[in-house]
Amino acid sequence: MNYFRENIEKMAGYVPGFQPDAADIVKLNTNENPYPPSPDVLEAIGGVSAERLRRYPQPLADDFRRAASEVLAVPADHIICANGGDDLLTMCFRAFCDGDRPVAYPVPTYTLYETLARLQGCGVLEVALDSPDLTGDLADTAAALTIVCNPNAPTGSRIEQETLARLAEKMSGVLLIDEAYVDFADGDCLELAEQFDNVIILRSMSKGYSLAGIRFGYGIARPGLIEGLLKVKDSYNVDVVAIGAATAAIRDQRYFMENVEKIKDQRQRLTEKLRGLGFEVNQSQTNFVLAGCSGLGAEGFGVKNIYERLAERNIYVRYFDVPNLADKLRITVGTEEQNGKLIEALKGILETIS
Ligand SMILES: *Cc1c(COP(=O)(O)O)cnc(C)c1O
Repeated sequence: MNYFRENIEKMAGYVPGFQPDAADIVKLNTNENPYPPSPDVLEAIGGVSAERLRRYPQPLADDFRRAASEVLAVPADHIICANGGDDLLTMCFRAFCDGDRPVAYPVPTYTLYETLARLQGCGVLEVALDSPDLTGDLADTAAALTIVCNPNAPTGSRIEQETLARLAEKMSGVLLIDEAYVDFADGDCLELAEQFDNVIILRSMSKGYSLAGIRFGYGIARPGLIEGLLKVKDSYNVDVVAIGAATAAIRDQRYFMENVEKIKDQRQRLTEKLRGLGFEVNQSQTNFVLAGCSGLGAEGFGVKNIYERLAERNIYVRYFDVPNLADKLRITVGTEEQNGKLIEALKGILETIS
């Protein structure tokens, strides 16, 4: 007896990054921010009253929409709030895709897109990220939904706004630009959400604002798209504690900017140190680096071994067991102390394997 829909029965579920329990570990595997959120966030959470808990939260998270509207200089009704950026991705698949309406995206990218496509039962049209005519290839798919992760995970690379503007113009469907890592990048594509009626910008409070544990993200688009997405959204998809925390976090821009600068500074140091050890590291626009290890160590000594030896030392990074990433490690930028521990451990490991 098959209780599930055929696509659910057949698919493998999404596997989130390992979340170890121990306190004394160096956790550089899921791109969390290594610094705590603004002190205002804890105050806001502590200030949530019993009365507020008893009642349902604001359906549209209006407190957050107002605060974000001021910070981003976009009208509040151009913002839709979500239980993490991933929740907005789910809404988009439900709203735009089905068996006759495929999704397209460049690869390699965030693997959750494929999982959500399988759940929704829609076709997947993959385009090579390094294609010389990426926008042409994406437009040619004529997909109902096109997702560009920008800056991209796990490559850390970024596509210029003009390029995506040309894509938005050419394509027939909706363009979702996943800006989960934009806080660490040299620029964003926010303007496109005002300029085009088929562009949605996704933002997350998990990375730049140190709130991965709270689950809060949002989308920015013109009201036509926002109104459609609201039909798909769970009525109370963000809770009262999350609204308070996210609102306090986005209001404290000074703390946020200082925090982001610290991470960019550490990113540069980590990149240089890894290169010094012989890793190939591209200039990242995110809070992680992708370190290529081909040519390191003795013949036959793979990156998986390095990953495992780091884990033995309680240092966790991300290893992807897929063909085009199998010689690379994705390493979240940590604090100075965490990055130092990682570099020391890598030195020790490389000595024993060369
Ligand atoms: C982290 C992330 C998101 C959203 O994460 P949430 O924690 O759900 O806000 C979306 N896309 C990418 C590529 C991410 O890395």
